[in-house]
Amino acid sequence: MHRIAVLTSGGDSPGMNPAIRAVTRTALHAGCEVFGVYRGYAGLIQNDMRRLEYKDVGGIIQRGGTMLLTARSPEFMTPAGREKAMENLRWHGIEGLVVIGGDGSLRGAAALTAEHGLPTICLPGTIDNDMYGTDMSIGADTALNTVLEAIDKIKDTASSHQRAFIIETMGRHSGYLALMGGLAGGAEAILIPEIPDTTIEDVVEVIKRSFRKGKTNCVIVAAEGAHLNAQTIQDQINQIDAEESGFSFSFRTRATILGHIQRGGSPSAFDRTLATRLGSGAVEFLLSGKNGGLVGMQSRKLTVTPYDEVLANPKVLDAKLYELSKILDRY
Ligand code: ATP
Repeated sequence: MHRIAVLTSGGDSPGMNPAIRAVTRTALHAGCEVFGVYRGYAGLIQNDMRRLEYKDVGGIIQRGGTMLLTARSPEFMTPAGREKAMENLRWHGIEGLVVIGGDGSLRGAAALTAEHGLPTICLPGTIDNDMYGTDMSIGADTALNTVLEAIDKIKDTASSHQRAFIIETMGRHSGYLALMGGLAGGAEAILIPEIPDTTIEDVVEVIKRSFRKGKTNCVIVAAEGAHLNAQTIQDQINQIDAEESGFSFSFRTRATILGHIQRGGSPSAFDRTLATRLGSGAVEFLLSGKNGGLVGMQSRKLTVTPYDEVLANPKVLDAKLYELSKILDRY
């Protein structure tokens, strides 16, 4: 294999840049030419790619986002779109493709390999940490630290005003950021889509209990995809509070949606080293003929998990940590 391409796709995550850097420089070191594709699969279809040299990926290791830009491409989800992409890859003589993105991006790579036989390999680039085949995905650690910083700051103002805050974290189907952020931030309750066992009555009780115990604030962390969202919780609790005016539990409740700040920022040391090891490993696997899978780090070992296996298995959240958070919040 003498010429490979690399792209980032789907939602961006901090650490995509160090991954691009590692892919590019490892491939150049092995005597391979590297093409960077701009805006993910949309760029493949529009033939928006150019050669990357050693210096082109300099000065990016500490930068959030992705220098190759990213996009979502509905056209690539059709066989005709993938045929166009393949024509452009053939035209450039590209023999292998490295895709950095989430599970949707992995599905795209799998389709390209299945239909056209192009060797592809994926790196897990998503803050959701929801991909089977790796303990951590690139960007999740930095996002978690952003969530934690926000929880700490919100606690300060919550205490000053004696408020309850419902903080919403990103993750459509994944409760990873909510669970780990809530656990590390000492939240009074955590709501995640994987374990939808907390009712609005439970949340009300948690807030009342906090007030009775003399706490100055109460923080609830809810994942974006949880069965109750932050705004709904805020509205329902404030309604209950107004109705029970004789027995007001006093904390005024506010919802804060953290949103896209979780996707940005300089990648943490963990994400930079993970991205570097996975990026370099991906090229070594690709050049040695191992492809068609997700490169991950599992129990500190570099692994390649076949696409079928990644897609067939949901990533399992550690339910024990959820139970632990309930125990710790009880006192
Ligand atoms: P994130 O986890 O951050 O959302 P993602 O990679 O899962 O990232 P998606 O929007 O789901 O993000 O997918 C990115 C792109 O991958 C899509 O815009 C589309 O071009 C391609 N893709 C997704 N699913 C498929 C599929 N089933 N077949 C072919 N291509 C796909």
